[in-house]
Amino acid sequence: MYLILLGPPGTGKGTQAKIVAERLGLAHVSSGDMFREAAEQGTELGLRAKAYMDRGELVPDELTIGMLEERIQQPDAQQGAVFDGYPRTLQQAQALDAALARRGRAADLALHVTAEDEEIVRRLAGRWLCTNCGEIYQEQNRPPKQPGICDACGATLRQRDDDKPQVVRERLQRQRPPAELLAHYRAQGKLRDIDGGQEMAAVTRDLLAAIEHKTSASGHS
Ligand code: AMP
Repeated sequence: MYLILLGPPGTGKGTQAKIVAERLGLAHVSSGDMFREAAEQGTELGLRAKAYMDRGELVPDELTIGMLEERIQQPDAQQGAVFDGYPRTLQQAQALDAALARRGRAADLALHVTAEDEEIVRRLAGRWLCTNCGEIYQEQNRPPKQPGICDACGATLRQRDDDKPQVVRERLQRQRPPAELLAHYRAQGKLRDIDGGQEMAAVTRDLLAAIEHKTSASGHS
């Protein structure tokens, strides 16, 4: 099963994608995580991507599409994946459709997680990531037991450079899923809206219910 999580940054999409992937035994494919890893490793791709990320802009399609096409050829993505933060443009969606079609597969659902702008700015300003294991915390909704320290592995937490309020506003303006991307999946009958303004467990419940509904309707096991 191939699932796509769409939505503006700060809707808890990344956390939800991890939970859903784990529950369903699918690979979690996050283009943002891949760019951040590449930037930390100092690869050419990473350094080029970082310049855009730091400004809250999208990384150009020619860098993004190739990276994702390589990723979905990895063994762990053969049985399915949850795409988190990808696709973000119509061109990326078309490239993903083509890449899956080459293996006789197709995206099953595009889950569009929505939330109000003010709620998003508040959430992102309180978001902390583990520098070691990537666990995500949120000051108001999911604080670590000890401020600044990861519950899971004890490493130091940090805030993302692009979670600064000014950059968040930029990202919100530029990174709402474009209408043509939503229309692409709507036309395929695959788009489902999920209310990301609810508490985390309710969002997970709604996502899993939409997936369950789809699998029972299409006879997936
Ligand atoms: P995210 O972790 O999904 O919020 O992504 C962080 C940053 O990585 C974004 O602000 C973009 O600069 C870049 N990025 C991630 N995924 C994509 C994508 N599919 N297309 C273009 N840029 C992306």
